[in-house]
Amino acid sequence: MVSKKMEALGVKKSVIREIFEYAKGRKAEIGEDRVFDYSIGNPSVAAPEDVKGALLRLLTEADPVKLHGYTSAQGDPAVRRAIADHLNATYDAGADPNLIYLTVGAAAALTISMNAILNDEKDEEIVVLAPFFPEYRVFAEKAGARLTVVPCTEPDFQIDFDALEKAVRPETKAVIVNSPNNPTGVVLSEQSILRLCDILRKAEETFGHPIYLISDEPYRDLIYGDVSVPYLTRYYDDTVVCYSFSKSLSLPGERIGYILVSPKMRNASSVYAAVLGAGRALGFVCAPALFQFMIPYCLGKTADTSVYQRNRDLLYGALTEYGFTCANPDGAFYLFMKSPEPDAYAFCETAKKYELLLVPSDDFGFPGYVRIAYCVTTEQIERSLPAFRLLAKDYHLVS
Ligand code: PLP
Repeated sequence: MVSKKMEALGVKKSVIREIFEYAKGRKAEIGEDRVFDYSIGNPSVAAPEDVKGALLRLLTEADPVKLHGYTSAQGDPAVRRAIADHLNATYDAGADPNLIYLTVGAAAALTISMNAILNDEKDEEIVVLAPFFPEYRVFAEKAGARLTVVPCTEPDFQIDFDALEKAVRPETKAVIVNSPNNPTGVVLSEQSILRLCDILRKAEETFGHPIYLISDEPYRDLIYGDVSVPYLTRYYDDTVVCYSFSKSLSLPGERIGYILVSPKMRNASSVYAAVLGAGRALGFVCAPALFQFMIPYCLGKTADTSVYQRNRDLLYGALTEYGFTCANPDGAFYLFMKSPEPDAYAFCETAKKYELLLVPSDDFGFPGYVRIAYCVTTEQIERSLPAFRLLAKDYHLVS
């Protein structure tokens, strides 16, 4: 007999994956150019040349035995030192290489962090701000916690502080923030971060235990225009950062990221020990070595984000002109558009008539919207605009 919980997770595909698979079939039927697939967050821009340069150099110059061998469980010390130096020089983050743990992407960083801080014999909760990355639920429940969902405010998708204050209870162990956000693209303002940290500090005092702020940051370096993403260790001591190179360097298949435990945390060494323990228990020791060694050459570099910015400007401009309502995204590569009818699934079915493949927002914990992943070619966006216009016409948004 297998685990029923795991079987159910394996059988039920994510709605994003379902639409992605449908897109593949549809492209085979009617041709690549006629299907407008906006389903999945796979970067459409190549990794920067620095990645290729670093890998070629490593493959030709480094000792191959060391290059492909096991590193320390938490990652190579020189790599962790380079990450800490970069974060301290860029954000004055107060990072300590001995509190960094290299992971296979943000997914492993999140699941290790949750398993490290949650105590599965206790009744514990993790607060998430909706809309949120659907895997948070899978990771939190596997680690033994419940999710408490706090919807963000509309139309700006910032934090609803009254709702947050009510949601943080003695059972609350952590709050997850994801800025820039998947699926809205919204960046939390410094003012929002200050208020959030204030609420958490007061709750820590009232309840007498730490409430960790988990900052899920795969999109930190994908920002457009004059916005900055506050570095949370500077605002809140009990912070755990989960970073990934998947999107910033366009390397989602290589699986590389890290956890940073803030040295200012009161029990930092015990949290880090628990991170080591959770990494071990989950079988995540020693992230891919070649990509660990690539990191020092590529810190602070990104793929060409001007493509995403151009896509955002084009799509946001056109959709709002056609009468749709979208959150204004300052980062990541997603648009969150209000469905013109309450049922986003029904809206996505109508959009399919025009070969527009959009993702209903229900699984992100915020029904009534669709996510549009604009990490596609600019040509796809240009070709799809007449279809979006016809869709708007169907809903009498445009004449
Ligand atoms: N967190 C968010 C918000 C994401 O959007 C993703 C991936 O799309 C992840 C975490 C997982 O990222 P990774 O590929 O680095 O595991």
